[in-house]
Amino acid sequence: MISTVAPEKVVLGSYTVDEKSNSVNGEVFDQILVLYGYEASSESLLGLDLAMRPDGFVMTDTDCLTSKNNVYAIGELARRGHPCCVTSMADGVAVAKAIQRRIESTAISRFAGLTKRAIGLGLAVLK
Ligand SMILES: Cc1cc2nc3c(=O)[nH]c(=O)nc-3n(C[C@H](O)[C@H](O)[C@H](O)COP(=O)(O)OP(=O)(O)OC[C@H]3O[C@@H](n4cnc5c(N)ncnc54)[C@H](O)[C@@H]3O)c2cc1C
Repeated sequence: MISTVAPEKVVLGSYTVDEKSNSVNGEVFDQILVLYGYEASSESLLGLDLAMRPDGFVMTDTDCLTSKNNVYAIGELARRGHPCCVTSMADGVAVAKAIQRRIESTAISRFAGLTKRAIGLGLAVLK
């Protein structure tokens, strides 16, 4: 919304609202609306040097993977879906599944799976 307002009309910093006179910092308005925006906080990046989008959010792929291998970003930090609790939680599920796929795609886990199945078959034959 800020980009739709003329720069000289944008005021940053603390402000005082007087409901009786309908004024902000002494200037009277017909209506006062309060809209909360959000941005990725640098503290949330934990000092990681992640690639960022031009709008200031963490760049991710469809699996929420960031520019660093093994680092995922979900929710508002990555501004993926509509910003709400449900989309943030859904991102968490998507990442959990992506991590599971990565773990299971390694040769060792494939070998472990095959061994497990072979032992299972052996036990079935013994019965
Ligand atoms: C006023 C307002 C009203 C809203 N109303 C709704 C609503 O009605 N329904 C709805 O679905 N959504 C609503 N939302 C949006 C919703 O709250 C967010 O989309 C959602 O909480 C985002 O979840 P998140 O996990 O990405 O981030 P957050 O909920 O912000 O969680 C991030 C967490 O990480 C912690 N953190 C940050 N940095 C660090 C660090 N360095 N170390 C450890 N912890 C850290 C923060 O303290 C925070 O607890 C509202 C948001 C606002 C601001």
